[in-house]
Amino acid sequence: MIGPSKSWTKLSKLLFCVTVLFLALILLPIRSYAAPLLRMGSRGDEVAALQTALLNAGFNPGPVDGIFGAKTLSALKEFQAAAGIAVDGICGPITQDALSRWQGTSRSTGRLRGKTVVLDPGHGGQEPGALSPWGDKEKNFTLSIASKVRYYLETQGANVIMTRYGDYSPGSDWGYWVDELVARASIANSNAADIFVSVHINAYPQDPTVSGVMGFYRRGSWSSQSLASTIAQCVAGTTGLRYIDTQVGPYYVLNHTYMPAALVEVGFMTNWNDVNLLRQNWFLDQVAIGISQGIADYLTR
Ligand SMILES: [Zn+2]
Repeated sequence: MIGPSKSWTKLSKLLFCVTVLFLALILLPIRSYAAPLLRMGSRGDEVAALQTALLNAGFNPGPVDGIFGAKTLSALKEFQAAAGIAVDGICGPITQDALSRWQGTSRSTGRLRGKTVVLDPGHGGQEPGALSPWGDKEKNFTLSIASKVRYYLETQGANVIMTRYGDYSPGSDWGYWVDELVARASIANSNAADIFVSVHINAYPQDPTVSGVMGFYRRGSWSSQSLASTIAQCVAGTTGLRYIDTQVGPYYVLNHTYMPAALVEVGFMTNWNDVNLLRQNWFLDQVAIGISQGIADYLTR
C-alpha cells in the first residue's frame, strides 16, 4: 500500500501550498491597506488622498500636490478640532475614520445645515459671455466654478440650487418664454434663498495686463456689501490673484433679488495669465474653495 499513501502525501503538500498561497493573497492587500501616519513632511499618494478628503470636508489644505506642508497641517488641525478628536496635526486611523464619517453626517451636522444658497453661473447657452482672445468662453469657466462651489457647500450641509446646471440659458427649460435675467432672480426669490451668489469672469480689452478679483453688490445693502467683499477677498486669498475692490454693481440679478446678493468677478478673460490659470482644474478648485469659504464665513458669522 505504498502507492496510495504516497499520492496522499503529494495531495496534502499541494493543499498546503494552495492554502499558503491563498492566505498570502488575502493578507497581502490588508497589509498594504494599513495606512501610514501622515504628518508634516510626508509625501505621496496617501497625502494627496488626505488633501482631497479635507477639501471635500470643507477644509482648505492648499493645492492637492501630495506634499504635507503648512497649509495641509492647518487644515488637518481645523478638521480635527471640528470633528472633536485630538488636535495633533497627525493623520492616523482615528482621523481617517472621522474623515470618512464626516461626509455622511454633514447633511445633518454640517455648519451650513438649513441654509439655502442660490449659485448663479454667469451666461450660458446662446450667450457665451466674454470671449478671451484665445477662444475661451466665460460661460464655461463660470459653470465649472459654480459646480465646484456647490459641491463644497453641500459637503458642509447647505442646500444649494443653481440657476443653470449645464450649458443653457436659465429659464429656457420652463416651457414658456422668460428673460434669462428674470429667471435667475426668480429662482433665488421663489426658493427663499438665504443668499444669492453670481459668478463671472471680468474683461478689460483696453489693458490686457489688468488682473484680479472684484466683488459687486446692490446699493444700500450692507449685508450684500459684506458678502461680496468677503467672497472676493477669500478668492484672492486662495488663488493668489490680486484683490482689486468691492463696488456697487448695476446688475439686474443684484437689484431684483430679495436677499443678500453678491456678484464676484474672478480674473480677466483679457489677461493671458488669468485665462491660462482658469483652464486648469486645480485652479478652478482654489477659486471654488475661496468662494465657499467666503459664503461659509458670511453665513456662520
Ligand atoms: Zn459675465
